[in-house]
Amino acid sequence: MEFTHTTLGQRVRFGTGHAAEHLRSELSEQGISRPMVIVSDRDRPLADAGTADTKPSVWWSDIAQHVPVQLVERATTAARDSGADGVVCIGGGSITGLAKAVALHTGLAIISVPTTYAGSEATNVWGMTENGVKTTGVDDRVLPAAVIYDAELVRGLPTELAMASGLNALAHCVDSLWAPRADPINRALSLEAAGALSSALRGIAVDSGDTESLEKALYGSYLAGVAFASAGSGLHHKICHVLGGAFDLPHAQTHAVVLPHVLAFNAPAVPDLAARLAVALGATAAGQGEVTAVAALNELYSAVDAPNRLSDIGFPDDGAELVVDRILEVVPPSNPTPVTRSALLSLLAAARVGAPAILDDAGSRVEGDAR
Ligand code: NAD
Repeated sequence: MEFTHTTLGQRVRFGTGHAAEHLRSELSEQGISRPMVIVSDRDRPLADAGTADTKPSVWWSDIAQHVPVQLVERATTAARDSGADGVVCIGGGSITGLAKAVALHTGLAIISVPTTYAGSEATNVWGMTENGVKTTGVDDRVLPAAVIYDAELVRGLPTELAMASGLNALAHCVDSLWAPRADPINRALSLEAAGALSSALRGIAVDSGDTESLEKALYGSYLAGVAFASAGSGLHHKICHVLGGAFDLPHAQTHAVVLPHVLAFNAPAVPDLAARLAVALGATAAGQGEVTAVAALNELYSAVDAPNRLSDIGFPDDGAELVVDRILEVVPPSNPTPVTRSALLSLLAAARVGAPAILDDAGSRVEGDAR
């Protein structure tokens, strides 16, 4: 083994029903007395309770998907003008993303309270959108100093959104297996996370309020985010990034739909990893490499009624041709299976219509083992 792994410094407070108490403790620990609080109306009662010992400098509820730069400018100005000495963000990845953008410009520490499984709170990656183009970057100033997880906050997620968001987290795990900085530590985290997420999503599909499943989903999404932050963006994230930017597709659903196709594309080139993933996902007959990993994921998708068609979420009929060259430009050289234009077109065509996609490494469709 030979690798270099960076572990990012961050405190995690985990406890069902304890978010407000943990937020108060964390604000005190960080010495923050005038936080900017970014929160939607839905979570305002928690924000009120969690910041009761402080004097929030500004309450910010103007939120938009994909972190538009104009919004960032206004929020940053509000933070500066109000004398904020920290940022509290309570919400999904869009709210975390705005807090990160403010931190990037002000250097203020973030305390993040996630309400989805997006996992952004675990990464030092920021993203902003201007004129339909999304730019991302890495900067340790945007890594939240602390993350507070509370299963009560995800209990109200509509099941469809919970599944898409949980599969977005699973995509962090799977892509981390072969991303540019993949290493044994990321893989250990990814595979543990994949097991937790698989079990959690099955549990939520049966009972959307099951506390143990909700806790497992948060635990898995955190580990997945940590692995992703360390491993970087692999083929899956590069594809979804281009699709999301080009067609303004919903983030979590896009990841959920594309994931099985990228796994099917890469698994044949990494049979040992595929076999480990199959076990993590709960496959009963592991050891057959790629078929088993893909079959295990497909079985999970059926069990949780996962989204499986890009055409359902805004991807146009000619979308593949429109973006294929842009994706080819950003394909990581480390991808285990060489990525050809025709392979990408096949992959996107299958993802568009929800067809089973198992591609060999020359980009040809291989039928069978499909959901
Ligand atoms: P989101 O934050 O846009 O939330 C999706 C919808 O769910 C919104 O309407 C929101 O109001 C609602 N919602 C959130 N929590 C809820 C709850 N508990 N109950 C009911 N409704 C709830 O979506 P997301 O998938 O969480 O985040 C996507 C964004 O995060 C994207 O912009 C993506 O780029 C970013 N992201 C960034 C990173 C990173 O490392 N920088 C990682 C993952 C995602």
